[in-house]
Amino acid sequence: MTGNRTFTMIKPDAVENGHIGAILEKITAAGFKIVAMKYTQLSLRDAKAFYAVHSERPFFGELVEFMTRGPIVAAILEKDNAVEDFRALIGATNPAEAAEGTIRKLFAASIGENAVHGSDSDENAAIEGSFHFAGREVY
Ligand code: GDP
Repeated sequence: MTGNRTFTMIKPDAVENGHIGAILEKITAAGFKIVAMKYTQLSLRDAKAFYAVHSERPFFGELVEFMTRGPIVAAILEKDNAVEDFRALIGATNPAEAAEGTIRKLFAASIGENAVHGSDSDENAAIEGSFHFAGREVY
């Protein structure tokens, strides 16, 4: 059985470029319901913890620097088959390889600065959602 929630962030590049509204429009038009949302900025400690799984990767320093350089929008989204459907909506990690019409194809510039995050499993969706939101902030 697949879960019905995923976690997303609109990353600093997309916020800086004024794409919050357009990205939220794509998300809701695709049938996702926003059940939690906040405008916030990751601290260095937050970003290192959130991306701990990538800590040995060569791009880790760059990733942490990017993700902390400005505000983000964090949200929990609800829809049947949420994780898989949201990954399809955002497209490949590298926008150059992302399908036409996907959020990364439309709004991202590079593999590092790729506009949005989407959880890669139901388990990580739950962990990442809890990282950003207390139970009372989820509606
Ligand atoms: P995702 O699940 O599609 O977000 O991709 P990954 O889990 O593989 O990577 C997490 C995030 O790390 C990506 O969304 C990018 O922001 C960043 N990232 C991945 N690969 C690279 C890379 O080669 N260079 C840089 N600078 N960042 C990367």
